[in-house]
Amino acid sequence: MKSNKQRRAEIKAHRLERAAALEVRLRTRDVRREIVWESVPGLELVDKARLEHCNTLYGEVPHFYIDRLFTCNCGAEEVWTAKQQKWWCEVAQGSIYSRAVRCYACRKAQRESRAAASMYPGANLLREEVTRLRALATAKPNAAAQAEVEAALQSKWRSLRVVAIEVMGCWGGPEQIAQLEAFVAARPRGQNYRVWEREAADAAAKALRHLAEAKQ
Ligand SMILES: [Zn+2]
Repeated sequence: MKSNKQRRAEIKAHRLERAAALEVRLRTRDVRREIVWESVPGLELVDKARLEHCNTLYGEVPHFYIDRLFTCNCGAEEVWTAKQQKWWCEVAQGSIYSRAVRCYACRKAQRESRAAASMYPGANLLREEVTRLRALATAKPNAAAQAEVEAALQSKWRSLRVVAIEVMGCWGGPEQIAQLEAFVAARPRGQNYRVWEREAADAAAKALRHLAEAKQ
């Protein structure tokens, strides 16, 4: 049994081959008149009526699309298929002068990172801060580290404040335990589940639990 991945790789290899062969064929001889268009794989006829949006001052509208080979920045050899070009020009109303630049994987990655960035502009910065703060937990606290944790407790990011509480739990000195217990004691009652004090109290309680388990 072939895996999907193998099958996709085969299809891709086949397309690359076909596009290369078609390119050569169209370049080497004037076969344009001989070809029975519909029967050529990797080639799609242009529907001129659907290309009216294109500015054709610079040249004739082509008669057909052919599979185009291109190399993505990542090094991947790809084919922009005639079918995809036809869709791009005639359905999406893209330009007939467009050329494919990035492979599917790179476009997908770009789309995802853009979506993440627009959803949460500080995402990368926060991740860095969390990593830095977590690293503090692995050593004994000095004044600088303690100051950093105090600063993190005032952060605009709740998740960073929670990490600060976790770091305090890892240190587990009498000072930290007193502070954690104060968080727990300040846990608000009532229905407002989104308040920070509740989240802080829960994180502190968890840290104290871990400490107690570690001592056993
Ligand atoms: Zn790529």
